[in-house]
Amino acid sequence: MNHKSGRVSIVKCRDYDKKNLKEAIKRCVGLIGGFEKFLDPQSKILLKPNLLLSAPPGRAITTHPLFIEAVIENIVDVTGKSENILIADSFGPATPYNKKGMEKIYGTTGMTDIAERTGCRLNYSAEYECLSNKNGRILKRTEVIKPVIEADVIINLPKFKTHNLTVISGAIKNMFGIIPGFNKVGYHLRFDDLEKFAGMLLDVISFIKPALNIMDGVWGIEGEGPGRRGTPRNVGLILASSDAISMDIIMSRIMNVPEALNPFMEVLKKWNAGSYMAEYIEVAGEKLSDTIIHDFKIPEGAGQKRLITNNFINTYILPFVRNSLNPYLYIDYDKCSFCMTCRSICPHKSITSDNKRIKFNRRTCIRCFCCSEMCPEGAIGIKYPFLGNLIFNWLEMAGKLTRKRKKPDSL
Ligand code: SF4
Ligand code: SF4
Repeated sequence: MNHKSGRVSIVKCRDYDKKNLKEAIKRCVGLIGGFEKFLDPQSKILLKPNLLLSAPPGRAITTHPLFIEAVIENIVDVTGKSENILIADSFGPATPYNKKGMEKIYGTTGMTDIAERTGCRLNYSAEYECLSNKNGRILKRTEVIKPVIEADVIINLPKFKTHNLTVISGAIKNMFGIIPGFNKVGYHLRFDDLEKFAGMLLDVISFIKPALNIMDGVWGIEGEGPGRRGTPRNVGLILASSDAISMDIIMSRIMNVPEALNPFMEVLKKWNAGSYMAEYIEVAGEKLSDTIIHDFKIPEGAGQKRLITNNFINTYILPFVRNSLNPYLYIDYDKCSFCMTCRSICPHKSITSDNKRIKFNRRTCIRCFCCSEMCPEGAIGIKYPFLGNLIFNWLEMAGKLTRKRKKPDSL
């Protein structure tokens, strides 16, 4: 993989006031060449927001509708029309990827209102095709939703979020939504190791490369993201780049995530894609060091999950001890509505129910955390074993692992 470093622009924007938002997005994209550089009036434009699940915009789980509307207005200023703009996403497996599911998601996330106000179109087709990706390192074939295949220009509109499995969820992870509905669950099974999963996501973003990425970081999610267990936070930033990987590396720096805990960085290093080290990425607009949020909460177990694949542990610690390092799931029964979404989406059939109790099979669970991500009530939490914490802290002290969140140097 011969990656070139990219340019990422950062612009401040505190709230979703439409007029300010439109101006801030224009300024942000202007710093990387302007909308004109990416658009042609004849192009079929696909907007790919994050519509993970059926949640209202205030939860900050999905790309805010006013943000998308401001992007559309900027596009129309250049192309003169909105009817060639299509909004499409294949959301998380908790909602069926069909017309009914789309209507539900579009209604709750505010997409229906945007389409009415702007005249852009919403995708209602569940069709997809299986494409071969011969340059993929891990993923040689993948199913891709039709609107993505048919688009001339893809504009990726991710959210600024943490993720229980991949630690960060930005532009790279958002493109996982080009894989249709429940098929995504199968990818968790096939790539059940974090490094392989991150590598697969890097293959997806290199295969279907958005022309432009504009990140809604006005409100983001910290803590146990990317779903309802996460906590909304007013980050007050918009990011833009033609390169999704560079964008996520900068997002990760703003979140103050140590490089060693970012699985994408680890894979890129192994792939020898050295140009993705933060020092090779050009930042425009705000000075990166001024935007870093030193107390941004990353998922609690981010460091511990690295332990499970850590060479030192694998070499020196016995497998039975390693098993007891694994995080485990628990249910908050005050929140659980017994909707059984978790049971139906679990790729490994590791969830059963019995007399109004949800049970996890810790032996077969692959720790993909899809159940926690998709639970509509935010009722599934993740706990980290005492032993794991103990060893993790010891390794940190011994300098074998690092999660220390130091003040980063400016780029
Ligand atoms: S834990 Fe969540 S997804 Fe599972 S049954 Fe309860 S509310 Fe539904
Ligand atoms: S129980 Fe949850 S974390 Fe475990 S395999 Fe099933 S969906 Fe993934």
